[in-house]
Amino acid sequence: MAAQILDGKETARKLREVLRGEVEQWRAAGGPQPLLVAVLVGDDPASHVYVRNKERACEQVGMASRLVRLPTTTATAQLLSLLDELNQDVAVNGILVQLPLPAGIDTQCVLDAVHPTKDVDAFCPENVGLLVQGRPRFLPCTPHGVVHLLAQYDIELVGKHVVVVGRSDIVGKPLANMLVQRDIGFGPRFANATVTVCHSQSQNLPALTRSADVLVAAVGRPKLITADMVKMGAVVVDVGINRVDDHLVGDVDFEALREVASYLTPVPGGVGPLTIAMLLRNTLTACQQQHR
Ligand code: NAD
Repeated sequence: MAAQILDGKETARKLREVLRGEVEQWRAAGGPQPLLVAVLVGDDPASHVYVRNKERACEQVGMASRLVRLPTTTATAQLLSLLDELNQDVAVNGILVQLPLPAGIDTQCVLDAVHPTKDVDAFCPENVGLLVQGRPRFLPCTPHGVVHLLAQYDIELVGKHVVVVGRSDIVGKPLANMLVQRDIGFGPRFANATVTVCHSQSQNLPALTRSADVLVAAVGRPKLITADMVKMGAVVVDVGINRVDDHLVGDVDFEALREVASYLTPVPGGVGPLTIAMLLRNTLTACQQQHR
């Protein structure tokens, strides 16, 4: 039986509609227009596309966005002083530092400098800590997108074995931290999972992935996950985005997995659009929290 495709594009469109309504309501009640500021350093072409998509998405839901572009030669100290200004500017609700930053910049130091109440990516230590304790200020965007997508298709997680391949601070670790919680806002059916996190040093990856009821790949390697690595009927979420011969592909062998998985995300059109929608969700939340 062919896998049902989890349509991230349509799910994100619906979510943007909901957000648009929430922004309208917020403004009708006298709230300011939420403002997201994106900081883009250097000229990585993919980063330019991502930032443009985020700006467009802000417009679609009635939020304001501002882009601050800096040259590749920017020093860490310059970036820190810009963040200090943005942190203090009451008109700015959310700050996004587009990654990757050029090699000479201390990325950790820069991410740590975003004020926690404006850290709409949920990368700073305070926000990571709150998430680990099960009382998040903001949910991290890509993991939030993954859970939202599963919840839209009523795919329960309680008691399921979820195997996450990849342990980055952006996807793998925060996703694992969310899934083990009792409830992260979607109700207990979409949390309470048993989670295994795999990484580049994991031994016998195929045996680990075959034990998954829900498999999430977030590695950045095309076709790392092949059909023989997936249990028949498993749910497979492909977070990977890889450019191969001018095409975007994920981390899983999509065509082969169609015959094995029960549900499967495409790339593009899977988790990607939801990541952006969740950034908007966090920006609205930030704005509301700042004007309580
Ligand atoms: P990363 O490079 O920070 O982390 C990759 C992880 O994969 C590491 O933890 C590493 O240990 C693990 N890994 C590497 N080789 C492995 C192997 N052979 N077996 C098992 N694990 C292995 O990457 P990231 O930032 O988490 O991004 C991962 C992928 O997800 C990339 O393709 C990225 O473009 C994509 N991504 C997509 C979205 C989205 O919105 N869809 C958002 C963020 C990242």
